[in-house]
Amino acid sequence: MPHAVTAIIDSEIITGTAAPIRVIDPASEDIIAEVPEADDMLVDRAVASARAAFERGEWRTMSVEARQKVLRRCADAIDAATDEIADIECANTGIPLSQIRGRSVGRAADNFRFFADYIGQMTAELYEQERDYLTYVRREPIGVAALISPWNSPLALGSMKVASAIAFGNSCVLKPAEQAPLGLTRLIQTIQDAGLPPGVVNLVNGGGITTGDRLVRHPGIDGVSFTGGTRTGKAIMAAAGAALKPSVMELGGKSANIIFDDADFEAALDGALIGIFTNNGQQCLAGSRILVQRGIADRFIEAFVARARAIRVGHPRDASTEIGPLASEAHYRHVMSFVPEAETTGARLLTGGRRAPGFDKGYYFEPTIALVDSNHHRLCQDEIFGPFATVMVFDTAEDAYRIANESRFGLVGYVWSQDIAIVMEAQERICAGTIWCNTPMIRDLHAPFGGFRESGVGAEGGRAGEAFYTRQKAVSIPRRPLTLRKLGVPA
Ligand code: NAD
Repeated sequence: MPHAVTAIIDSEIITGTAAPIRVIDPASEDIIAEVPEADDMLVDRAVASARAAFERGEWRTMSVEARQKVLRRCADAIDAATDEIADIECANTGIPLSQIRGRSVGRAADNFRFFADYIGQMTAELYEQERDYLTYVRREPIGVAALISPWNSPLALGSMKVASAIAFGNSCVLKPAEQAPLGLTRLIQTIQDAGLPPGVVNLVNGGGITTGDRLVRHPGIDGVSFTGGTRTGKAIMAAAGAALKPSVMELGGKSANIIFDDADFEAALDGALIGIFTNNGQQCLAGSRILVQRGIADRFIEAFVARARAIRVGHPRDASTEIGPLASEAHYRHVMSFVPEAETTGARLLTGGRRAPGFDKGYYFEPTIALVDSNHHRLCQDEIFGPFATVMVFDTAEDAYRIANESRFGLVGYVWSQDIAIVMEAQERICAGTIWCNTPMIRDLHAPFGGFRESGVGAEGGRAGEAFYTRQKAVSIPRRPLTLRKLGVPA
């Protein structure tokens, strides 16, 4: 088996020789690549390359029009390589090919297009309150960004970081998750020929506490953008904070999906299924705590369980597959560890909780639903991060908001009701960075996406990206010749 890419530095592909990290196909459990970890020297080289590109300045000082062209060429290159990238990503993550082709790769390309458009529309603040001065605010790139991404949706999340960092003139070093580096690495290779000067987008592969930690702490890094688990986020933010590096943290979630009696029943049912069972259930923004009002609870739960049982668990390459295997053996064990608790006091397993039948190999897990009678149950408080929903019945809207907000997380909230007054009340009362009303997940890139509480600090998106990846410089200029006090001149 050939060694896969260890790093991309100055547009050069480095295959490395250090101890390889085995990359597993979660559908077959076969080793599909060995990725030698980027050691300290390679991390240092990657940061030095990004720094040199930034100092040379051909990217940061390029006209906006020219930079837009390059970003759009990156998007076109990704589109042109859709089949190849989707193929690798499917083998590495177990996410159904149809979802990767239909959603993730297109989204990755769109991230570059979005930021190309965005920088063409940027405006600056101007202050005219001082009679003798104009003061305006320039937005300058922060320098070199460390970008650290997770394994659950590598293409969409990794490309979001790269596109937003470089659009504003920064250079970057990306570290994909060690469990799923292949698709994102291929994507970064794909954009190298789109006209980016060497060193603007670099990549290092490797483990978190090795390659990732070295990168975050590197003195040549000016800012850190991280998406991943809350515990890791705290460690990275502390490391970045110790050196006063700004950081943005996109972390875990345990989001409530509130379905009121008067909801459009079919839409809420479809939305609840999409909210927990797409992307193999491995999504930070999953509606994993389903709260259903008592008037429709029996009917809803019956229909929800019947549909979940009918979800097609299969090989990620089969066109009909709706859920593939979980991403890794360790993650399979993590998800499985919640099953005994779904059969204890206060919880009852309604379906699933087993290895999906019909597979000799692979980390296949059945769509699982547990009915719980207390939100304090661990099933409702910890992020399971799999196709595993809890359902709780509530009586009043007050109950629903209290339960929704009894969480250390605050990433998203879903609400389903045909009464605009209920929807307006709910969007105000739910403590989360994003609220979806009568719809499952819709990501409008213009809007900030970020979590409250332990779901994160800061946000990604259009203006949120601009705020993070640029620093403000206030410039004051007299409107007319000044009459200055003449220090040192006798009165
Ligand atoms: P993780 O925290 O284990 O790892 C994420 C990344 O951080 C990986 O690249 C890893 O190698 C790296 N890393 C780990 N320790 C590090 C360290 N000390 N220094 C530098 N880098 C380090 O997360 P994961 O298991 O890959 O991803 C799943 C988690 O991500 C879930 O909690 C999920 O909710 C969260 N997530 C959040 C969002 C969001 O937008 N809020 C999106 C997707 C996933």
